[in-house]
Amino acid sequence: MSRLVCPECGEDVVQKPPKDKVPWKAHGLKRPRYSHTDGTALCPVVGRKGYQPAEPRRARK
Ligand SMILES: [Zn+2]
Repeated sequence: MSRLVCPECGEDVVQKPPKDKVPWKAHGLKRPRYSHTDGTALCPVVGRKGYQPAEPRRARK
């Protein structure tokens, strides 16, 4: 089983919605399925709808 990491900061990612109080719907986003291990949303990246949480990527090791 491979680990997932945040592509921006390289921290481990868990498959749990973030605890951040972000009105995801107001931003036109779905509630993310992943968060950093400390419960925060993945680092923001610029997407088609502006800033949105990065998609996790598989760690190489
Ligand atoms: Zn991150």
